[in-house]
Amino acid sequence: MRLFLFVLLLVTLSFSSVFADHSKCPSSPYFDVAPSDITHAKDLSAAELAYHSKYMQIAIDIAIENNSKFAAAIVHKNGTVACTGVNVGGSRMYHGEVKAIMNCTTMYQQATWEDYSLYTTGEPCPMCSAAIMWTKFQKVIFASYVSNMYCERCFNQLPMDSNEIFKLGYGINHNIVVIGGVLDNITDTFFPSVCNQAETGWGVTPLCQKGWSRECPRPSRYFGN
Ligand SMILES: [Zn+2]
Repeated sequence: MRLFLFVLLLVTLSFSSVFADHSKCPSSPYFDVAPSDITHAKDLSAAELAYHSKYMQIAIDIAIENNSKFAAAIVHKNGTVACTGVNVGGSRMYHGEVKAIMNCTTMYQQATWEDYSLYTTGEPCPMCSAAIMWTKFQKVIFASYVSNMYCERCFNQLPMDSNEIFKLGYGINHNIVVIGGVLDNITDTFFPSVCNQAETGWGVTPLCQKGWSRECPRPSRYFGN
């Protein structure tokens, strides 16, 4: 009898798990937030644009000096340039932003950078955006947009706006200010179209939404404020 009841219990449990009602389950365990705001260069005041352009120019110069497209500069809120980094290969992980953070970490033996801004010639990829969040930068300022590089010019990119990663800061208690498009009139010239793959030998066929152009509005809501 006991064995019968035990088997009955097992059968009931297995049936209940098969037929459990999942209709109330959310599609994801995590809170769904809108992409964090990106303030676009065209919306900055003249004084703010001049300030950020000065430091972006430093990143641009380093990229050019090193025959690279991707470089970054880390700047203290008092205006001091702490260190720089440039993507010159060695590992596919050594993007300009990651190299700059690694250089700063080695130089100053410091794990987080709450009082610093990171300037980068290209919008941070998901890997770099995550690195920038984990290391707790106050601001990130980029020049060329990923969407322009990928959708418009067929550059290899993980197709994601950086603020899709930056919006997740609620999970590590960190919010970051994001400014995009500073001096992209210069950095966009680093990224001529490689859409003609037969001619260039590289690039990708972008999978982008029909009707998209760089003039389309970009997401703009700041999480937490
Ligand atoms: Zn990156």
